[in-house]
Amino acid sequence: MEYEAVIGLEVHAQLATESKIFSSSSTKFGSYPNSQVNPVCLGMPGVLPVFNERVLEYAIKAGLATSCEIARKSRFARKNYFYPDLPKGYQISQYDEPLCIRGHLEIDSGNGKKKIRITRIHLEEDAGKLVHEYSDFESHVDLNRAGVPLVEIVSEPDISTAEEAVEYVKKLRTILKYIEVCDGNMEEGSLRCDANVSVRPVGQSELGTKTEIKNLNSFRFIQRAIEYETKRQEAVLRSGGKVVQETRLFDSQRGVTFAMRSKEEAHDYRYFPDPDLLPVVVEEDHLKKVRLSLPELPDEKLSRFVDEFSISKDDAETLSSSRPLAEYFEECAKHANDKKAASNWILNELLREVENEDRIAEFPVRPENLAELLNLIGEGKINRKTAKEIFSEMINGDKRAGEIVAEKGLTQITDEDEISSIIAEIIKANPKEVERYRNGDTKLLGFFVGQVMKATRGKADPAIVNQTLRKSLEEK
Ligand code: ADP
Ligand code: MG
Repeated sequence: MEYEAVIGLEVHAQLATESKIFSSSSTKFGSYPNSQVNPVCLGMPGVLPVFNERVLEYAIKAGLATSCEIARKSRFARKNYFYPDLPKGYQISQYDEPLCIRGHLEIDSGNGKKKIRITRIHLEEDAGKLVHEYSDFESHVDLNRAGVPLVEIVSEPDISTAEEAVEYVKKLRTILKYIEVCDGNMEEGSLRCDANVSVRPVGQSELGTKTEIKNLNSFRFIQRAIEYETKRQEAVLRSGGKVVQETRLFDSQRGVTFAMRSKEEAHDYRYFPDPDLLPVVVEEDHLKKVRLSLPELPDEKLSRFVDEFSISKDDAETLSSSRPLAEYFEECAKHANDKKAASNWILNELLREVENEDRIAEFPVRPENLAELLNLIGEGKINRKTAKEIFSEMINGDKRAGEIVAEKGLTQITDEDEISSIIAEIIKANPKEVERYRNGDTKLLGFFVGQVMKATRGKADPAIVNQTLRKSLEEK
Protein backbone atom coordinates (compact mmCIF):
# COMPACT_ATOMS: atom_id res chain seq x y z
CA MET A 1 0.00 0.00 0.00
CA GLU A 2 1.12 3.55 -0.75
CA TYR A 3 0.85 6.23 1.92
CA GLU A 4 0.72 10.01 1.67
CA ALA A 5 1.38 12.70 4.23
CA VAL A 6 -1.08 15.42 5.24
CA ILE A 7 0.39 18.48 6.92
CA GLY A 8 -1.06 21.61 8.51
CA LEU A 9 1.15 24.32 9.99
CA GLU A 10 0.69 26.74 12.85
CA VAL A 11 3.18 29.58 12.42
CA HIS A 12 3.86 32.00 15.25
CA ALA A 13 5.21 35.33 14.09
CA GLN A 14 6.35 38.07 16.43
CA LEU A 15 4.97 41.44 15.42
CA ALA A 16 7.73 44.02 15.19
CA THR A 17 6.27 46.61 17.52
CA GLU A 18 8.39 48.58 19.98
CA SER A 19 6.19 47.78 22.94
CA LYS A 20 4.25 44.76 24.11
CA ILE A 21 0.71 43.84 23.18
CA PHE A 22 -0.96 44.96 26.42
CA SER A 23 1.63 47.20 28.10
CA SER A 24 4.36 49.74 27.41
CA SER A 25 7.26 47.38 28.19
CA SER A 26 9.88 47.13 25.45
CA THR A 27 10.05 44.13 23.15
CA LYS A 28 13.76 44.48 22.37
CA PHE A 29 15.53 41.15 21.94
CA GLY A 30 18.51 40.05 24.02
CA SER A 31 18.19 42.36 27.01
CA TYR A 32 19.13 41.42 30.55
CA PRO A 33 16.60 38.93 32.01
CA ASN A 34 13.49 40.55 33.52
CA SER A 35 14.64 44.05 32.57
CA GLN A 36 11.67 44.56 30.24
CA VAL A 37 8.74 43.85 32.46
CA ASN A 38 6.10 45.81 34.31
CA PRO A 39 3.12 44.84 36.50
CA VAL A 40 1.07 43.80 33.46
CA CYS A 41 3.71 41.38 32.11
CA LEU A 42 4.27 40.11 35.65
CA GLY A 43 0.59 39.29 36.09
CA MET A 44 0.17 41.40 39.22
CA PRO A 45 -3.34 41.48 40.62
CA GLY A 46 -5.40 44.56 39.93
CA VAL A 47 -3.68 45.72 36.76
CA LEU A 48 -5.47 46.03 33.44
CA PRO A 49 -4.19 45.25 29.95
CA VAL A 50 -4.36 48.04 27.35
CA PHE A 51 -4.41 46.86 23.75
CA ASN A 52 -1.59 48.24 21.56
CA GLU A 53 -3.12 49.76 18.41
CA ARG A 54 0.00 49.16 16.37
CA VAL A 55 -0.40 45.44 16.99
CA LEU A 56 -3.86 45.56 15.44
CA GLU A 57 -2.57 47.46 12.41
CA TYR A 58 0.23 44.92 11.85
CA ALA A 59 -2.08 41.93 12.25
CA ILE A 60 -4.58 43.41 9.78
CA LYS A 61 -1.72 43.89 7.33
CA ALA A 62 -0.71 40.26 7.74
CA GLY A 63 -4.31 39.23 7.11
CA LEU A 64 -4.74 41.38 4.01
CA ALA A 65 -1.39 40.27 2.57
CA THR A 66 -2.52 36.64 2.82
CA SER A 67 -5.96 37.33 1.30
CA CYS A 68 -7.85 36.85 4.54
CA GLU A 69 -11.19 38.36 5.45
CA ILE A 70 -10.78 40.74 8.37
CA ALA A 71 -13.43 40.32 11.04
CA ARG A 72 -15.12 43.62 11.93
CA LYS A 73 -15.37 42.33 15.44
CA SER A 74 -13.08 39.83 17.10
CA ARG A 75 -12.46 39.01 20.72
CA PHE A 76 -9.69 38.15 23.15
CA ALA A 77 -9.97 34.95 25.17
CA ARG A 78 -8.06 33.53 28.10
CA LYS A 79 -6.33 30.23 27.50
CA ASN A 80 -5.86 28.74 30.95
CA TYR A 81 -2.95 26.53 31.89
CA PHE A 82 -0.27 26.42 34.52
CA TYR A 83 3.39 26.85 33.72
CA PRO A 84 6.03 28.86 35.60
CA ASP A 85 6.69 31.12 32.59
CA LEU A 86 3.05 32.26 32.62
CA PRO A 87 2.52 34.42 35.70
CA LYS A 88 -1.18 35.15 35.16
CA GLY A 89 -2.04 31.45 34.82
CA TYR A 90 -3.57 32.20 31.44
CA GLN A 91 -2.41 33.41 28.06
CA ILE A 92 -4.43 36.10 26.35
CA SER A 93 -5.21 34.81 22.87
CA GLN A 94 -8.13 34.68 20.47
CA TYR A 95 -10.28 31.60 20.24
CA ASP A 96 -13.66 31.37 18.55
CA GLU A 97 -13.61 34.92 17.19
CA PRO A 98 -10.22 35.46 15.51
CA LEU A 99 -9.22 38.65 13.68
CA CYS A 100 -8.59 37.11 10.25
CA ILE A 101 -10.17 34.11 8.52
CA ARG A 102 -10.18 32.23 5.21
CA GLY A 103 -6.98 33.39 3.51
CA HIS A 104 -4.53 31.59 1.32
CA LEU A 105 -1.15 31.83 -0.30
CA GLU A 106 0.45 30.24 -3.30
CA ILE A 107 3.61 28.16 -3.26
CA ASP A 108 5.78 26.41 -5.83
CA SER A 109 5.14 22.74 -5.15
CA GLY A 110 7.79 21.34 -7.46
CA ASN A 111 5.18 20.49 -10.07
CA GLY A 112 3.44 23.80 -10.46
CA LYS A 113 1.71 26.32 -8.26
CA LYS A 114 -0.28 25.16 -5.29
CA LYS A 115 -2.73 27.09 -3.16
CA ILE A 116 -2.46 26.57 0.59
CA ARG A 117 -5.49 27.78 2.47
CA ILE A 118 -5.13 29.71 5.70
CA THR A 119 -7.79 28.90 8.24
CA ARG A 120 -7.26 31.84 10.54
CA ILE A 121 -4.83 34.39 11.90
CA HIS A 122 -5.31 35.34 15.51
CA LEU A 123 -3.59 37.60 17.99
CA GLU A 124 -1.93 36.42 21.16
CA GLU A 125 0.72 37.27 23.71
CA ASP A 126 3.94 35.30 24.07
CA ALA A 127 4.86 33.62 27.36
CA GLY A 128 8.13 34.01 29.29
CA LYS A 129 11.02 31.60 29.18
CA LEU A 130 12.57 29.17 31.64
CA VAL A 131 16.34 29.38 31.89
CA HIS A 132 18.18 26.28 33.08
CA GLU A 133 21.75 27.21 32.34
CA TYR A 134 22.63 29.06 35.56
CA SER A 135 22.46 26.05 37.83
CA ASP A 136 21.97 22.29 37.86
CA PHE A 137 19.43 22.52 40.66
CA GLU A 138 17.36 25.55 39.84
CA SER A 139 15.31 26.88 36.99
CA HIS A 140 15.12 30.61 36.46
CA VAL A 141 12.33 32.56 34.82
CA ASP A 142 12.88 35.37 32.32
CA LEU A 143 9.71 37.30 31.59
CA ASN A 144 11.11 39.66 28.94
CA ARG A 145 9.17 37.79 26.29
CA ALA A 146 5.94 37.67 28.29
CA GLY A 147 3.43 39.88 26.52
CA VAL A 148 5.36 40.17 23.28
CA PRO A 149 2.78 40.40 20.47
CA LEU A 150 2.34 37.39 18.20
CA VAL A 151 0.09 36.37 15.40
CA GLU A 152 -0.64 32.69 15.00
CA ILE A 153 -1.23 31.78 11.38
CA VAL A 154 -3.02 28.45 11.04
CA SER A 155 -3.10 26.63 7.71
CA GLU A 156 -5.60 24.08 6.46
CA PRO A 157 -4.10 20.59 6.08
CA ASP A 158 -3.33 21.33 2.41
CA ILE A 159 0.41 20.61 2.54
CA SER A 160 1.61 17.24 1.25
CA THR A 161 5.39 17.10 1.69
CA ALA A 162 8.18 18.46 3.86
CA GLU A 163 9.39 20.50 0.87
CA GLU A 164 5.98 22.12 0.47
CA ALA A 165 5.94 22.93 4.18
CA VAL A 166 9.29 24.68 3.86
CA GLU A 167 8.10 26.57 0.76
CA TYR A 168 5.00 27.66 2.62
CA VAL A 169 6.92 29.00 5.63
CA LYS A 170 9.44 30.70 3.34
CA LYS A 171 6.67 32.39 1.42
CA LEU A 172 4.92 33.47 4.58
CA ARG A 173 8.16 34.82 6.00
CA THR A 174 8.93 36.78 2.82
CA ILE A 175 5.46 38.34 2.88
CA LEU A 176 5.62 39.27 6.58
CA LYS A 177 9.02 40.87 6.05
CA TYR A 178 7.82 42.72 2.95
CA ILE A 179 4.96 44.32 4.80
CA GLU A 180 7.36 45.04 7.68
CA VAL A 181 5.29 43.49 10.43
CA CYS A 182 7.80 40.77 11.43
CA ASP A 183 11.58 40.65 11.12
CA GLY A 184 11.43 36.94 10.26
CA ASN A 185 14.44 36.13 12.42
CA MET A 186 14.02 32.42 13.14
CA GLU A 187 17.15 32.11 15.29
CA GLU A 188 15.80 34.69 17.70
CA GLY A 189 12.40 33.03 17.66
CA SER A 190 10.58 35.81 15.81
CA LEU A 191 9.14 33.14 13.54
CA ARG A 192 8.55 29.57 14.63
CA CYS A 193 6.29 26.82 13.58
CA ASP A 194 4.33 23.83 14.88
CA ALA A 195 3.85 21.09 12.30
CA ASN A 196 0.76 18.87 12.41
CA VAL A 197 1.45 15.67 10.54
CA SER A 198 -0.63 12.63 9.65
CA VAL A 199 -0.42 9.93 7.00
CA ARG A 200 -3.11 7.97 5.19
CA PRO A 201 -3.34 5.40 2.41
CA VAL A 202 -3.35 7.08 -1.01
CA GLY A 203 -6.95 7.32 -2.19
CA GLN A 204 -8.47 7.59 1.29
CA SER A 205 -10.29 10.89 1.76
CA GLU A 206 -10.56 10.70 5.54
CA LEU A 207 -7.64 12.25 7.45
CA GLY A 208 -5.41 10.05 9.59
CA THR A 209 -4.64 10.69 13.26
CA LYS A 210 -2.16 13.56 13.57
CA THR A 211 0.71 14.41 15.82
CA GLU A 212 1.89 17.96 16.44
CA ILE A 213 5.63 18.72 16.42
CA LYS A 214 6.24 21.84 18.49
CA ASN A 215 8.57 24.76 18.06
CA LEU A 216 10.50 24.22 14.85
CA ASN A 217 12.70 27.27 14.42
CA SER A 218 14.58 26.71 11.17
CA PHE A 219 13.72 25.60 7.65
CA ARG A 220 16.11 22.71 8.03
CA PHE A 221 14.37 21.50 11.19
CA ILE A 222 10.93 21.81 9.60
CA GLN A 223 12.12 19.70 6.70
CA ARG A 224 13.85 17.04 8.77
CA ALA A 225 11.19 16.79 11.48
CA ILE A 226 8.36 16.31 8.97
CA GLU A 227 10.33 13.79 6.93
CA TYR A 228 11.13 11.77 10.02
CA GLU A 229 7.60 11.96 11.42
CA THR A 230 6.03 10.91 8.12
CA LYS A 231 8.26 7.84 7.91
CA ARG A 232 7.67 6.99 11.54
CA GLN A 233 3.88 7.09 11.22
CA GLU A 234 3.98 5.12 8.00
CA ALA A 235 6.02 2.42 9.72
CA VAL A 236 3.52 2.33 12.62
CA LEU A 237 0.62 1.83 10.20
CA ARG A 238 2.47 -0.74 8.08
CA SER A 239 3.17 -2.83 11.12
CA GLY A 240 -0.54 -2.84 11.98
CA GLY A 241 -0.32 -0.26 14.79
CA LYS A 242 -2.20 2.99 15.41
CA VAL A 243 -0.76 6.50 15.47
CA VAL A 244 -1.27 8.07 18.89
CA GLN A 245 -2.50 11.66 18.86
CA GLU A 246 0.13 13.54 20.82
CA THR A 247 2.48 16.49 20.95
CA ARG A 248 6.07 15.70 19.98
CA LEU A 249 9.39 17.51 19.95
CA PHE A 250 12.18 17.34 17.38
CA ASP A 251 15.65 16.37 18.58
CA SER A 252 17.90 18.02 16.02
CA GLN A 253 21.01 16.19 17.29
CA ARG A 254 19.53 12.76 16.67
CA GLY A 255 17.18 13.80 13.87
CA VAL A 256 14.13 12.21 15.50
CA THR A 257 10.83 13.31 17.01
CA PHE A 258 9.77 12.07 20.45
CA ALA A 259 6.59 12.25 22.50
CA MET A 260 6.26 15.26 24.81
CA ARG A 261 2.72 14.92 26.12
CA SER A 262 -0.50 13.31 25.01
CA LYS A 263 -3.30 15.55 23.78
CA GLU A 264 -5.75 14.43 26.46
CA GLU A 265 -3.99 16.12 29.34
CA ALA A 266 -2.90 19.10 27.29
CA HIS A 267 -6.16 20.09 25.70
CA ASP A 268 -8.39 21.26 28.50
CA TYR A 269 -7.58 24.94 28.29
CA ARG A 270 -11.00 26.18 29.45
CA TYR A 271 -10.98 29.12 27.06
CA PHE A 272 -13.29 31.96 27.97
CA PRO A 273 -13.68 35.58 26.82
CA ASP A 274 -11.30 37.96 28.57
CA PRO A 275 -13.47 40.28 30.69
CA ASP A 276 -10.66 42.87 30.95
CA LEU A 277 -10.55 43.59 27.22
CA LEU A 278 -13.14 45.10 24.91
CA PRO A 279 -13.96 43.35 21.66
CA VAL A 280 -11.59 44.39 18.85
CA VAL A 281 -13.64 46.47 16.42
CA VAL A 282 -12.22 47.30 13.01
CA GLU A 283 -13.94 50.20 11.26
CA GLU A 284 -14.28 50.31 7.49
CA ASP A 285 -12.16 53.47 7.29
CA HIS A 286 -9.39 51.94 9.30
CA LEU A 287 -9.36 48.87 7.11
CA LYS A 288 -9.20 50.98 3.98
CA LYS A 289 -6.28 52.97 5.34
CA VAL A 290 -4.32 49.85 6.21
CA ARG A 291 -5.11 48.34 2.80
CA LEU A 292 -3.77 51.44 1.07
CA SER A 293 -0.58 51.35 3.13
CA LEU A 294 0.37 47.86 1.90
CA PRO A 295 3.37 47.74 -0.44
CA GLU A 296 3.51 45.72 -3.63
CA LEU A 297 3.76 42.06 -2.57
CA PRO A 298 6.45 39.59 -3.71
CA ASP A 299 4.30 37.73 -6.27
CA GLU A 300 3.15 40.98 -7.87
CA LYS A 301 6.71 42.24 -7.98
CA LEU A 302 7.92 39.02 -9.55
CA SER A 303 5.50 39.15 -12.46
CA ARG A 304 6.02 42.86 -12.98
CA PHE A 305 9.79 42.36 -13.16
CA VAL A 306 9.30 39.70 -15.83
CA ASP A 307 6.98 41.94 -17.86
CA GLU A 308 8.76 45.23 -17.41
CA PHE A 309 12.40 44.20 -17.56
CA SER A 310 12.20 41.03 -19.69
CA ILE A 311 14.19 38.98 -17.21
CA SER A 312 13.61 35.28 -16.56
CA LYS A 313 11.10 34.07 -13.98
CA ASP A 314 13.84 32.48 -11.89
CA ASP A 315 15.88 35.68 -11.81
CA ALA A 316 12.79 37.73 -11.00
CA GLU A 317 11.99 35.33 -8.18
CA THR A 318 15.39 35.73 -6.55
CA LEU A 319 15.33 39.49 -7.01
CA SER A 320 11.87 39.82 -5.50
CA SER A 321 12.57 37.46 -2.60
CA SER A 322 13.76 40.32 -0.41
CA ARG A 323 12.19 43.74 -0.55
CA PRO A 324 15.41 45.73 -0.13
CA LEU A 325 17.04 43.63 -2.87
CA ALA A 326 14.06 44.17 -5.16
CA GLU A 327 14.21 47.90 -4.54
CA TYR A 328 17.95 47.96 -5.23
CA PHE A 329 17.45 46.14 -8.52
CA GLU A 330 14.62 48.37 -9.58
CA GLU A 331 16.57 51.53 -8.86
CA CYS A 332 19.55 50.16 -10.79
CA ALA A 333 17.35 49.09 -13.72
CA LYS A 334 15.88 52.58 -13.83
CA HIS A 335 19.31 54.00 -14.70
CA ALA A 336 20.77 51.07 -16.60
CA ASN A 337 20.27 50.93 -20.36
CA ASP A 338 20.30 47.15 -20.32
CA LYS A 339 17.93 45.85 -17.63
CA LYS A 340 18.93 42.24 -18.13
CA ALA A 341 22.57 43.21 -17.58
CA ALA A 342 21.56 44.87 -14.32
CA SER A 343 19.79 41.72 -13.17
CA ASN A 344 22.74 39.52 -14.17
CA TRP A 345 25.31 41.67 -12.45
CA ILE A 346 23.31 41.87 -9.24
CA LEU A 347 22.66 38.13 -9.16
CA ASN A 348 26.17 37.03 -10.13
CA GLU A 349 28.59 39.69 -8.95
CA LEU A 350 26.85 41.74 -6.30
CA LEU A 351 25.13 39.06 -4.23
CA ARG A 352 28.50 37.39 -3.80
CA GLU A 353 29.63 40.49 -1.91
CA VAL A 354 26.68 40.91 0.45
CA GLU A 355 26.08 38.74 3.46
CA ASN A 356 22.48 39.71 4.08
CA GLU A 357 20.27 40.81 1.20
CA ASP A 358 17.97 42.58 3.59
CA ARG A 359 20.77 44.98 4.39
CA ILE A 360 21.70 45.78 0.84
CA ALA A 361 20.82 49.42 1.51
CA GLU A 362 24.16 49.58 3.35
CA PHE A 363 26.11 48.20 0.38
CA PRO A 364 28.78 50.76 -0.59
CA VAL A 365 27.90 50.75 -4.30
CA ARG A 366 24.62 52.60 -4.78
CA PRO A 367 22.29 51.25 -7.49
CA GLU A 368 22.64 54.28 -9.76
CA ASN A 369 26.43 53.98 -9.58
CA LEU A 370 26.25 50.31 -10.50
CA ALA A 371 24.08 51.34 -13.45
CA GLU A 372 26.79 53.77 -14.56
CA LEU A 373 29.34 50.95 -14.52
CA LEU A 374 27.04 48.68 -16.52
CA ASN A 375 26.37 51.43 -19.05
CA LEU A 376 30.13 51.80 -19.59
CA ILE A 377 30.24 48.10 -20.50
CA GLY A 378 27.18 48.49 -22.72
CA GLU A 379 28.72 51.40 -24.59
CA GLY A 380 31.90 49.39 -25.19
CA LYS A 381 34.02 51.79 -23.09
CA ILE A 382 35.25 49.02 -20.82
CA ASN A 383 35.14 45.24 -20.99
CA ARG A 384 33.71 42.90 -18.36
CA LYS A 385 37.05 42.02 -16.89
CA THR A 386 37.96 45.65 -16.31
CA ALA A 387 34.44 46.22 -15.01
CA LYS A 388 34.95 43.62 -12.31
CA GLU A 389 38.12 45.35 -11.16
CA ILE A 390 36.37 48.70 -11.13
CA PHE A 391 33.48 47.15 -9.22
CA SER A 392 35.73 45.94 -6.41
CA GLU A 393 37.37 49.34 -6.30
CA MET A 394 33.94 50.94 -6.00
CA ILE A 395 33.13 48.61 -3.10
CA ASN A 396 36.28 49.64 -1.28
CA GLY A 397 36.24 53.33 -2.05
CA ASP A 398 33.81 56.06 -2.85
CA LYS A 399 34.69 56.80 -6.45
CA ARG A 400 32.24 56.40 -9.28
CA ALA A 401 32.95 54.10 -12.22
CA GLY A 402 33.53 56.91 -14.71
CA GLU A 403 36.04 58.58 -12.41
CA ILE A 404 38.04 55.39 -11.95
CA VAL A 405 38.11 54.76 -15.70
CA ALA A 406 39.30 58.30 -16.42
CA GLU A 407 41.87 58.35 -13.63
CA LYS A 408 43.47 55.05 -14.49
CA GLY A 409 43.13 55.23 -18.25
CA LEU A 410 41.09 52.05 -18.29
CA THR A 411 39.07 52.91 -21.36
CA GLN A 412 38.74 49.89 -23.54
CA ILE A 413 40.80 49.81 -26.74
CA THR A 414 38.36 49.29 -29.58
CA ASP A 415 40.42 50.82 -32.37
CA GLU A 416 41.05 47.98 -34.83
CA ASP A 417 44.21 49.51 -36.25
CA GLU A 418 45.71 49.86 -32.83
CA ILE A 419 44.82 46.29 -31.95
CA SER A 420 46.13 45.03 -35.31
CA SER A 421 49.52 46.62 -34.81
CA ILE A 422 49.82 45.12 -31.30
CA ILE A 423 48.92 41.73 -32.78
CA ALA A 424 51.49 42.13 -35.52
CA GLU A 425 54.20 42.62 -32.91
CA ILE A 426 53.08 39.61 -30.94
CA ILE A 427 53.07 37.44 -34.04
CA LYS A 428 56.57 38.62 -34.82
CA ALA A 429 57.77 37.86 -31.28
CA ASN A 430 56.35 34.31 -31.17
CA PRO A 431 57.25 32.56 -34.44
CA LYS A 432 57.18 29.02 -32.97
CA GLU A 433 53.66 29.38 -31.60
CA VAL A 434 52.52 30.91 -34.86
CA GLU A 435 53.84 27.94 -36.76
CA ARG A 436 52.19 25.44 -34.43
CA TYR A 437 48.93 27.32 -34.76
CA ARG A 438 49.16 27.31 -38.51
CA ASN A 439 49.87 23.56 -38.41
CA GLY A 440 46.52 23.01 -36.72
CA ASP A 441 47.11 23.60 -32.99
CA THR A 442 44.28 26.15 -32.83
CA LYS A 443 44.03 25.86 -29.04
CA LEU A 444 46.94 28.30 -29.03
CA LEU A 445 44.48 31.09 -29.81
CA GLY A 446 44.03 31.46 -26.07
CA PHE A 447 47.76 32.01 -25.65
CA PHE A 448 47.70 34.83 -28.21
CA VAL A 449 44.63 36.43 -26.65
CA GLY A 450 46.48 36.36 -23.34
CA GLN A 451 49.50 38.07 -24.88
CA VAL A 452 47.37 40.85 -26.35
CA MET A 453 45.58 41.37 -23.06
CA LYS A 454 48.89 41.50 -21.26
CA ALA A 455 50.22 44.06 -23.69
CA THR A 456 47.09 46.21 -23.28
CA ARG A 457 46.73 45.67 -19.55
CA GLY A 458 43.39 43.96 -20.15
CA LYS A 459 41.89 46.90 -21.93
CA ALA A 460 41.50 45.51 -25.44
CA ASP A 461 38.00 44.68 -26.58
CA PRO A 462 38.01 40.87 -26.40
CA ALA A 463 35.65 40.44 -29.36
CA ILE A 464 37.82 42.53 -31.66
CA VAL A 465 40.98 40.83 -30.36
CA ASN A 466 39.59 37.38 -31.12
CA GLN A 467 38.41 38.32 -34.56
CA THR A 468 41.56 40.15 -35.60
CA LEU A 469 43.85 37.48 -34.16
CA ARG A 470 42.16 34.73 -36.13
CA LYS A 471 42.46 36.76 -39.30
CA SER A 472 46.11 37.63 -38.78
CA LEU A 473 47.13 34.13 -37.79
CA GLU A 474 45.42 32.54 -40.76
CA GLU A 475 46.90 34.80 -43.42
CA LYS A 476 50.38 33.73 -44.37
P1 ADP B 1 -6.12 21.09 17.35
O1 ADP B 1 -7.52 21.17 17.86
O2 ADP B 1 -5.43 19.82 17.70
O3 ADP B 1 -5.30 22.30 17.61
P2 ADP B 1 -6.91 21.99 14.78
O4 ADP B 1 -8.08 21.38 14.10
O5 ADP B 1 -7.06 23.30 15.42
O6 ADP B 1 -6.30 20.93 15.79
O7 ADP B 1 -5.77 22.08 13.71
C1 ADP B 1 -4.51 22.52 14.05
C2 ADP B 1 -3.63 22.34 12.82
O8 ADP B 1 -3.57 20.96 12.48
C3 ADP B 1 -4.15 23.04 11.56
O9 ADP B 1 -3.04 23.59 10.89
C4 ADP B 1 -4.75 21.92 10.75
O10 ADP B 1 -4.65 22.18 9.36
C5 ADP B 1 -3.91 20.75 11.12
N1 ADP B 1 -4.57 19.45 11.05
C6 ADP B 1 -5.79 19.13 11.53
N2 ADP B 1 -6.05 17.83 11.32
C7 ADP B 1 -4.96 17.29 10.71
C8 ADP B 1 -4.60 16.00 10.25
N3 ADP B 1 -5.41 14.96 10.40
N4 ADP B 1 -3.40 15.83 9.69
C9 ADP B 1 -2.56 16.86 9.56
N5 ADP B 1 -2.83 18.10 9.96
C10 ADP B 1 -4.01 18.33 10.54
MG1 MG C 1 -3.79 23.93 17.86
